[in-house]
Amino acid sequence: MSARRQTRLVAVEDRSDHVFDCIRGFLKLHRLSPDPAHYAFAHRVICDPNGALAQSVATLTEGGVRLTARDIKALGGEIGTFGVGDAAAADEPAHADTLVAQTQMQVEGFTDMVRRVRADTEDFGRDLAASADAMRAGAGADNVILLTGLMLNRVQAAEARLAAATSEADQLREKLEEARGDARRDPLTGLPNRRAFEEAFAERMQAGETLCLAVVDVDRFKRVNDQFGHSVGDRVLRAIADALTAACPDHFVGRYGGEEFIILFYGLDLPAARGMLEAARISVASKRYRLRESDAPLGSVTFSGGLTEAEPGEVQGAVFGRADKLLYAAKDGGRNRIYAA
Ligand code: GH3
Ligand code: MG
Ligand code: MG
Repeated sequence: MSARRQTRLVAVEDRSDHVFDCIRGFLKLHRLSPDPAHYAFAHRVICDPNGALAQSVATLTEGGVRLTARDIKALGGEIGTFGVGDAAAADEPAHADTLVAQTQMQVEGFTDMVRRVRADTEDFGRDLAASADAMRAGAGADNVILLTGLMLNRVQAAEARLAAATSEADQLREKLEEARGDARRDPLTGLPNRRAFEEAFAERMQAGETLCLAVVDVDRFKRVNDQFGHSVGDRVLRAIADALTAACPDHFVGRYGGEEFIILFYGLDLPAARGMLEAARISVASKRYRLRESDAPLGSVTFSGGLTEAEPGEVQGAVFGRADKLLYAAKDGGRNRIYAA
């Protein structure tokens, strides 16, 4: 074997060892089993370190965060048989950071595609100039036909790429809308969150609508967690969210944070809003919650609320502050009651 060929073989072996070591390190770092699905994913990341996939992985794992099964699936990888801590999470909806990584991948793919379409167009311009020159120089029909055929091929390739780019752009738009929706939704209860509330308040106030705001807080909720555990507490919060939504149809019911909810009554004056909120309070307080697993009674769960009507043009913070003060007066007054003013 020649010395040059031998040197080349050694270089190839060195590179293989290096790739293998990197893949091994990647699988170990993310606690992934070395089955073909995970290996293929790691191979794609390691062998194209500047590619869209590697960059998305870098974004997701910034600050030492480990990849999850859901991340791998969202990035187009297959989930291996063992290994990823939360393989069950693979079927959960994508979270905002995963959506961002997916979107980043698509944006990069899209940019790449546009670059190629531009290159096609430039080549096409060159072909066109060559064809015109050939005709001017009185070239034979065969040459002109050849050049025209070339141009046609380029136009068809550009058309196909543009069609793909358009469909990518549609998918991107959908993903962004999904991420936008997630940013305004509380994941535990599915209710709109504080940010969504602030937007709804501003929009309705600007429209000159009559608005009443209730701030509602679950009574002695810490006891539920302490006695039955946090996951039971979570279920209770979901049940209260559902009960409030059912009792206040056509109005805004949101989770403000923790065990606090907000209701923005549209087009109701204070007595009417109070009537609806009282009905919600009675409906929640009269339910007898039971543990799903053992049917053991949880007892009743109540909430207190502060309710106030917004003055025309009043800022949201002022209305909220007034309702919040009333809520705390209701707590001091013995809980399981609504104070309105
Ligand atoms: P009060 O009647 O004065 O409001 O008493 P409280 O126990 O409800 O109020 P406190 O502020 O002392 O405790 C609120 C508890 O709510 C503490 C916190 O752990 C719990 N909590 C907040 N958010 C969640 C959640 O998302 N899930 C669960 N399970 N508990 C939560
Ligand atoms: Mg509270
Ligand atoms: Mg509370």
